[in-house]
Amino acid sequence: MPPRIARLSTSRLREFALIADLSRRFGKTGRSVLRGIGDDAAIIRPLPGYLSLLTTDLLAEGIHFDLATATVEDIGYKAAVANLSDIAAMGGTPQYLLVSVAIPTGWTGSEVQRLYRGLMKACKPHGVELIGGDTSASQRDLFISITLTGIVRPHKVLTRDGAKVGDLLYVTGTLGDSLAGLNLLAARSRKRSQAGRRKHAGTEPEPVSMRDLIDRHLHPSPRIAAGRMLTSQGLATAAIDLSDGLSGDLAHLCEQSGVGAEIQASALPLSRQCRVYAASRKTDPIRLALTGGEDYELLFTVSPRNRVRLERLGLRLDCRLSCIGIVRPKASGLRLRDENGTLRRLAVTSYQHFQNKLPL
Ligand code: ADP
Ligand code: MG
Repeated sequence: MPPRIARLSTSRLREFALIADLSRRFGKTGRSVLRGIGDDAAIIRPLPGYLSLLTTDLLAEGIHFDLATATVEDIGYKAAVANLSDIAAMGGTPQYLLVSVAIPTGWTGSEVQRLYRGLMKACKPHGVELIGGDTSASQRDLFISITLTGIVRPHKVLTRDGAKVGDLLYVTGTLGDSLAGLNLLAARSRKRSQAGRRKHAGTEPEPVSMRDLIDRHLHPSPRIAAGRMLTSQGLATAAIDLSDGLSGDLAHLCEQSGVGAEIQASALPLSRQCRVYAASRKTDPIRLALTGGEDYELLFTVSPRNRVRLERLGLRLDCRLSCIGIVRPKASGLRLRDENGTLRRLAVTSYQHFQNKLPL
């Protein structure tokens, strides 16, 4: 019917204008991209002698992020980091990005630009180029799907299935900060909505150390350099990135490698801010470290004979490396030595996005 067709063609025109604008602002590419945004598919010249890594993530508003606690730019940034972190965990170098978005009706072009600004802010330091995507309207919520490609040398790829009994377990950076930051953001947004109801009541600003935790939640660093160091030096036997929380991701690595593991609570790397936060809330920082998702640190295993070399090379990284335990036979399962020295079963209690929302 004409009115419907007329409406459709206007929205299609708006879609083209939006894509052209995104392409102009964010779609500049180098010589190895033969076609970027604009054709039916992107064309890339592959690098001879490398394997391709391909990863994708779908983020749904209300499930993976909340526009009440993060800006559109923050959401773009984190969406890119989730994928960059997957490439880091394989020991790869990220290369190309495709972004599909379902944009809520009522959004303006400047909101879409802010989303892409966040995406590209995470990608730029690693030389990642935007080469395509897809665009749709959404009746209510924002959806973002990111596909990221990377490369790695064939004999250097890091997988989850290579851990051997006796290997040491290491993590990069500190654990639990992101969950602490998320809790702080949730508390801030609760306070704001209460203050909104009680007129004139302002909200107190968080102390500086608390703001650091919020920043760790909103702006995590993908450990690309650490992953590349591990592969280039042939140091790790297996690796995984920490997106669901240490206990859950350790369970994945152990399952794939057919092993068990023993973690030392006192060895878990906690930031000073995380300890301060936990003390102020009377919660256990170890629990935050074991269950908190979205730290985007790397968990990896190393043969004990490579320990000294690893720790020496680790000094050149911009994050610390901590030995948190040891790989055990599968039959011993996953265990935690608590701060009193007692060995107990490690509860796998990591963050599950969909809880009861999937029909499985
Ligand atoms: P098609 O109908 O073949 O899917 P589109 O009109 O959707 O073509 O896309 C045209 C070009 O714009 C393609 O190169 C596509 O990869 C790119 N593109 C579309 N949407 C986006 C987006 N949201 N971000 C980046 N590139 C996009
Ligand atoms: Mg399309």
